[in-house]
Amino acid sequence: MNLQKEQADKNRQALRFKLKFAYFITGEPMSLVTTEELLVPARADKYAVGAFEVWNMESVQGVIAAAERLNQPVILQIGPYEADHAGLEDISHIALYHARRAKVPVAVHLDHGESFERVMLCINHGFTSVMLDASHLPFEENLAATKEVVRAAHGCGVSVEGELGRIGGEEAGINVTDSDIYLTDPDEAIEFVKETGIDVFAVAIGTVHGFYQGKPNIRLELLGKIAETISIPLVLHGGSGTPSDILRKTIELGIAKINICTEFVAAFAKTFVAEQSEESFRYNVPSVFTKPRDAAKKMVEEKIRLFAGL
Ligand SMILES: [Zn+2]
Repeated sequence: MNLQKEQADKNRQALRFKLKFAYFITGEPMSLVTTEELLVPARADKYAVGAFEVWNMESVQGVIAAAERLNQPVILQIGPYEADHAGLEDISHIALYHARRAKVPVAVHLDHGESFERVMLCINHGFTSVMLDASHLPFEENLAATKEVVRAAHGCGVSVEGELGRIGGEEAGINVTDSDIYLTDPDEAIEFVKETGIDVFAVAIGTVHGFYQGKPNIRLELLGKIAETISIPLVLHGGSGTPSDILRKTIELGIAKINICTEFVAAFAKTFVAEQSEESFRYNVPSVFTKPRDAAKKMVEEKIRLFAGL
């Protein structure tokens, strides 16, 4: 086990060296990093890094432009929906291209990877971080599946996010009804984090995927209890629509990564639709694509300000 850990540490160093080495060849700053590199300092200094779902050129440009404007790190994340829509080849090239030439540190992360195979494919395409979501499985199976991914990913110097508990709403085709939601158990969390060796830990504390149907009921005491014993960075899924004051409190308690998907897509899509309903609308590229991208960028800026405490 120790030998395995030693090798994984060496591989991480090797990946960092490889990323830095690109700087000497291209002369461009080394900006592509792992989520572990971004999030460990974030948790220590009590700020969070926003992770935004991207699916095309405009969405990637919007996120990077917002992060650069505020000089803050950011995470581009791609889930099964986005990968299947864009094609993994296409979206990973776009995301990695922009991440490598950004003026701020950027990680490229697989969100809600549903299988070992999906995770491996993303690592093979150059992602610096992956999530295996086996949270729908019984505890022991989730633990075993996550552990397998950690070993493979760490062998390539890539960070791993694991999840325990079940978040409500719909994500990548899986609909979790209210009766299926289960919150992260603090005792199970200790065993899960220790046994799997994950780098970042996603908790279920009452947020939902998609917009809330009723009033959000976020269990801050539960998060506090988990954070007492888990020292690795914590992740909040279902950040969209969560009140700002609650988000700030979760950051104070140890959340270092906040996922925003629905709100980001909505900022883009609502502008897209609103523009087209104008009578004067003209079908040219700036009207169709530039305005939605700018609206999405503006929304990302607001979130980054909030998460960073700016
Ligand atoms: Zn999620």
